[in-house]
Amino acid sequence: MTSPSSGGLSALIVDESPPRYPLDAAFEPFDLAQIPPLGLHELTPTDQTNAAVKSPANHGKRATLWSAAYWLHAWSDLKSVALCRKSCIMDQANLGITHDGRASISGLKTCKSVWACPTCSLQVWNARKELLHQHLEAADDQGLSVSLTTLTMRHSLKHSLKALWKALQPAWNAVNSDRLISDLRTDAQHVGFIKRLEVTYSFKFGWHVHLHVLDFWQKPLTDKFVKEYEEAMFAPYERKLVRSGLPALKPGVAVVMQKLELGSAAESIASYLTALATEKVALELSSSVGAKQARMGNITPFGILDLAMADLSHLPLWHEWEHGSKGKKALQYSQSLLDYLKVKEVDDEELNEVEERNRSSLIIFDNPTWRYAVENLDIDELLTVTEDAFKSAPTETALMDRLWLAQMRASNYLASHGLLNGWKALDLEIYAFLC
Ligand SMILES: [Zn+2]
Repeated sequence: MTSPSSGGLSALIVDESPPRYPLDAAFEPFDLAQIPPLGLHELTPTDQTNAAVKSPANHGKRATLWSAAYWLHAWSDLKSVALCRKSCIMDQANLGITHDGRASISGLKTCKSVWACPTCSLQVWNARKELLHQHLEAADDQGLSVSLTTLTMRHSLKHSLKALWKALQPAWNAVNSDRLISDLRTDAQHVGFIKRLEVTYSFKFGWHVHLHVLDFWQKPLTDKFVKEYEEAMFAPYERKLVRSGLPALKPGVAVVMQKLELGSAAESIASYLTALATEKVALELSSSVGAKQARMGNITPFGILDLAMADLSHLPLWHEWEHGSKGKKALQYSQSLLDYLKVKEVDDEELNEVEERNRSSLIIFDNPTWRYAVENLDIDELLTVTEDAFKSAPTETALMDRLWLAQMRASNYLASHGLLNGWKALDLEIYAFLC
C-alpha cells in the first residue's frame, strides 16, 4: 500500500511496477492498425485534444469522485466500499459514450453505500429523489396535508456516534407509541410518515444525529394543532433520550414542526430530504470547502472523508463513521403511508443506476483487465480523453465518425499506458437511431 506521506491521491493512482498483461482467451489482442483512417483527425497516442474543446460540466465532479474512490480502495475499513467499482458484474466492463458526449463505464460491481461511498451515495440519492418526488405528487393529488418535523439531540464530544444512534431509535419509538400522539393522529387523520436520518459532525460538539420527518394527514393542519403536536412529541422523545443517558432538551428547540404546502413545492421538498448532505458531495470533497466548513462548525460525513483524504490523522474519525453508519436506513417510509400510496418500499440495493439513453458501447474489458486498469490507470482521464475526442470533431461530423474518434482515442490511451490486451474495441452501433 502506498504510504500516506508519499504524495496524496496521485501516488495512489500511479503504480511504478511494470505493467502485467491479463490474458483471457475470449479477448484478442487489440491492434491499433485495424482501425481504418477517418480522414478527419490524425490521432496518435500523444495526440493533444483540441484546446477549444470544453470538457463536460460534470468532469470536475467525476474526477473528485474517482479520487475519493481510489482513496477508499486503499483506506476504507468496509470491504464493500474498498472494492466498489473494482470488478465487473458479468465479467465485463463497458466503456461507452452518450450521443451528447458523456463517457462512462457500466457493468461494475458497486457497494451501494449511501453513507460511506460518495459515488454510490449520489446515485442512490438521485434515484431516491425521483421516487420521493413521485410519492409527494401522489400525496398532493390525494389532497393530503403535510408537515415537516426536525428532532435533534443534545450531545458533546464525549458521546460516541454509536451511543447517539442507539439512543435515537427508542426515543422515536416512544413518540410513535405515545397515547396523546395517537389521539392527535386520529383527530387529524394521520396517514403515515417518511423519516430521513441525517448526521453531521463538529470538532467542538461531536456527532449530531437528527431526524427529519414528513407527516401526511387527511385533514388540513391548523397552527394550533401544529403547536399541540410539537409539544406532544417533545415529552416522550425527551424522556427516552434522558433515560438513555443524554442531556435534557430545550422545549421549542429540539423538536420543531412546521406545515408545508405540497403542490408546486413537491420537488423542492424531495430535494430537501434527499440532498441535504449528499448532492453537494463533490463540493464537500474539495479540500478548501471541507476545511472551511470544519472551521465554521458542522461538517457532513463526506466533509470528514475530505479531511481524511488530505490528512490521515482524521482516518479514525472516518472509520468511526463507516462502522457507525453501516446498515442504517437513511430514508424510511411508514407501512401505513406505503399502503395508502399503494407503493412498495425499495431498499438502496435495489435502486439501480439509471440507464443512460442514446449510449453507444466503445470498448469492453474482461474482469482482470478492468481490475488492472482501475489500479494502474486514471479512469477519469480515460473518460475525459474519450469525451474530448468525441467533441473535437467539427460540428458537421456524423455521429458514427465521432464514435470512431472517441473509440480510437480511448484505444490509444489504453495502449499508450501499456494495456494491450484483455480488452477490445466493439463494432460500433448507434442503437438509438436504429429503432
Ligand atoms: Zn460504492
